[in-house]
Amino acid sequence: MANSLFTELFSDFVSLFFPNCCVACSDSLAKGEELVCTNCMLEMPQTSHHKEINSELQVRLSNRFEVAHAAALFKFAKSSRVQYILHALKYKNRPEVGVMLGKVLGQKIVDACIMKPDIIIPIPLHPSRKRKRGYNQSAKFAEGLSVKLNIPFSDTIIARLVKTETQTKKNKLNRWQNVSEVFHVKDPLTVKGKRILLVDDVVTTGATIEACAHILKQNGCAEINIACIAEA
Ligand SMILES: [Zn+2]
Repeated sequence: MANSLFTELFSDFVSLFFPNCCVACSDSLAKGEELVCTNCMLEMPQTSHHKEINSELQVRLSNRFEVAHAAALFKFAKSSRVQYILHALKYKNRPEVGVMLGKVLGQKIVDACIMKPDIIIPIPLHPSRKRKRGYNQSAKFAEGLSVKLNIPFSDTIIARLVKTETQTKKNKLNRWQNVSEVFHVKDPLTVKGKRILLVDDVVTTGATIEACAHILKQNGCAEINIACIAEA
């Protein structure tokens, strides 16, 4: 007891000099708040995709490939709190932000009971980019989802062979022809017959996620579901 009191006092003392700030608005966090303040959590545009059979994101991606369910946690907007959070996750060495957001969406998915995947696979980064950043931000989001959904995630099933995202600029036919040059399924047995939850940080055109979905289908997965932090 005395020990935990000491720890708490020490942590208060430390936070006087190194204030714990909200990654979205930079205000100091109150006691009990973690990474993002309550106000920002309430103000950020959260979607209700997790409880919709044909969510806006699902309908949009269905034009590209067969997708069972799709859920974004937030709507993306430039210069918004959502963008600051994503910036912290990708460029400010804050991997814990990804895990926290994964837990938030994961809890919503569990409560809604619509999406029932077997395994979570994050969109892989090219090894050189992962080395530079120190982590794959989508894998951190997957980690948080995995905790709440109580299913495994793996960052090693798919390998990314090409660094640039040039496939977004190509037409649909070229993109499909190039899929096997961009991504490679290293462990087909873990994918075969499985309902996959494919996760990314931000879904914009959907080209990257389509390429991954396509190669998973080629390797015999049963179903593709999508989760992302933000839909742009
Ligand atoms: Zn805030």
